[in-house]
Amino acid sequence: MEEINVELQHCSQCNQEMLNDAKFCTYCGFPENGDESEKAQFHAQRVMKKSQAKENNQRINSARNTLYWMAGIFFVSGLFLFFSLNDIAVLIASSILAIIYLILAYWSQKKPFAAILSALLLYLMVIVVNVIDEPSSLFKGILLKIIILSFLIKGMYSASQSTKGQ
Ligand SMILES: [Zn+2]
Repeated sequence: MEEINVELQHCSQCNQEMLNDAKFCTYCGFPENGDESEKAQFHAQRVMKKSQAKENNQRINSARNTLYWMAGIFFVSGLFLFFSLNDIAVLIASSILAIIYLILAYWSQKKPFAAILSALLLYLMVIVVNVIDEPSSLFKGILLKIIILSFLIKGMYSASQSTKGQ
């Protein structure tokens, strides 16, 4: 039986086996047999990727917290309208919205982009429905609306950036 003589070494970064004459580790991409500047570049890129991922996570987390806050705001304002107008339909609609936002916030851990996009579209829809119902409602709490929208858009941008690299 003929023996195939393949010389193996271990990658110094991830400890996976690699061919002796290969320049790059096929597992992690480290230039094991490259020169010093190539190795330095690999480390610099890895540090940069890590800090970018951390930044993205923070932005997605803040967008998710926004979703939790929105769930709370919808529920509390629904309760408030229920007691001041005695309108059970408003309470039910707000509670349903609050539950949807809780679900979206939970879902954003797995699919941040889709969850935040859905939250944004739903929020815009609520604004449009309210404006059709009562045009002056557009300017009610306009600052809060802008803050919520900018949080959602920021979170969506981060989510789209972070999934690109995967
Ligand atoms: Zn490796």
